[in-house]
Amino acid sequence: MISVRNYVAGQWLVPDGIDTTPIEDPATRERLGTVPLSGAREVAAAVAAAKAAFPEWRRTPAVERARVLFRLKIMLDEARQEMAVQLSREHGKNVAETAGEIQRGIENVEHACGIPSLMMGDALEDVARGIDCESLRQPLGVFGVITPYNFPVMIPMWFWPYAVATGNTVVLKPSEQDPLTHQRVIELAAEAGLPPGVLNVVHGRKEAVEALIDHPDVTGVSFVGSSAVARMVYARAGEAGKRVQALGGAKNHMIVLPDADPDVVADAVLSSVYGSAGQRCLAGSVIVGVGEAYEPMRERILDGAASLRMGRGVDEGVDMGPVISEAHRERVMRFINQGERDGARLLLDGRGRTVDQYPEGHWVGPTVFEDVRPDTPLGNEEVFGPVAGLSRASSLDDALDLVEASPYGNATSIFTTSGWAAREFRYRAGISMIGVNIGVAAPMAFFPFGGAKHSFYGDLKAQGRDAVEFFTDKRVVISRW
Ligand code: NAD
Repeated sequence: MISVRNYVAGQWLVPDGIDTTPIEDPATRERLGTVPLSGAREVAAAVAAAKAAFPEWRRTPAVERARVLFRLKIMLDEARQEMAVQLSREHGKNVAETAGEIQRGIENVEHACGIPSLMMGDALEDVARGIDCESLRQPLGVFGVITPYNFPVMIPMWFWPYAVATGNTVVLKPSEQDPLTHQRVIELAAEAGLPPGVLNVVHGRKEAVEALIDHPDVTGVSFVGSSAVARMVYARAGEAGKRVQALGGAKNHMIVLPDADPDVVADAVLSSVYGSAGQRCLAGSVIVGVGEAYEPMRERILDGAASLRMGRGVDEGVDMGPVISEAHRERVMRFINQGERDGARLLLDGRGRTVDQYPEGHWVGPTVFEDVRPDTPLGNEEVFGPVAGLSRASSLDDALDLVEASPYGNATSIFTTSGWAAREFRYRAGISMIGVNIGVAAPMAFFPFGGAKHSFYGDLKAQGRDAVEFFTDKRVVISRW
């Protein structure tokens, strides 16, 4: 059992007199730890610590701030395997998936190590005779970072390494469902030399989130989670005049043209739909076969889905783990039940599936529907579970209509050997992360990550140069001597 603690001004604290919530292994329901559910008082203490640390941290040269991150990167590399196993226990996905997640997190630390160059401004002499102009990037103060359960190690690292590298200080509110492994990252950051108060952590739910957004000393907010909460965070922080980037949910279409290689398609679709048991904002959800692409695609996806090995993520040979909680399992079941009522044809039913060795787990077997209509919840809402909805289109235009009609705009993929079709798709889809013959089009740390429509509220995205923009203000100085 690990006691999850708040981390404030360099001290690990279990606040007195507040409720806690358990963390369980979703395959076994073994209790792994407890999480404090902080309120406004705990948030205020963390914000005060971050505010107090800001002036000195801001004055610390960018190269010195970067050196802390260089040390952290090496420590994370060393701790990676141990963390991958721990993350698999608390989240449920298999160890290859958790190791991949940790790697993507480390890549953000690596990218943020380049901050002395990334943060540079511009200068021009003689903008008018004898007058020079320069622009500088300056940090802004205390940022709040609020993150979801599905990538609990990586997603906080989309933000806080850039925030602290640019000289800001941070209060992180991780997901209360699986915050154990990221606690190890925070411990390592402290060992790497991040001064007390620069990065603080407060655990909790809605109450802690609202207190963090509303706190007058918090200058900006980075959020990732479901669209309804993302929209609330965007509106509430925006109303208070704060910077905000709020990444929301997704409903991702994968379009298969008749000239695509059906084996490449099947591999990509299976890993995209069923990886992490579908709990990914980049998960494939609606799989559209254009014309004669449909039949071979259907057959291969069905065979592949039926042969996936479900089990506990830390065990050998497991393709797909459980979903995070019983509440989430029931949510996915409701989508499957509703899909049947709405007339979609259930080709593979994951509802009754369990794993003998772990009867208590939150299991949902791989599920495949066909004839999914775009005007039903299965066709236009985020399921966030291992459910593929197959549908047919008569042409690329027809398939593009489906993508364009979606309220979400996070990711999409096309499978084709036609450069023209791929170009047309990229040009018209209106979706932010696009895969061409790639199933999970996840931008690496030096590119922006984030969607469009109801998948994203804001303008500057996570990672890459956008992160440096988000966490700094451009100040322009015009001088005459
Ligand atoms: P969630 O919205 O339930 O929770 C996200 C965070 O908000 C958590 O820290 C949680 O404690 C807090 N929260 C939850 N309800 C709240 C409320 N009513 N008021 C204030 N705060 C609240 O999301 P989740 O279930 O943890 O994560 C899954 C969701 O995140 C999916 O919708 C997924 O698509 C999305 N997601 C998006 C991206 C992206 O890049 N766009 C990446 C990962 C996950």
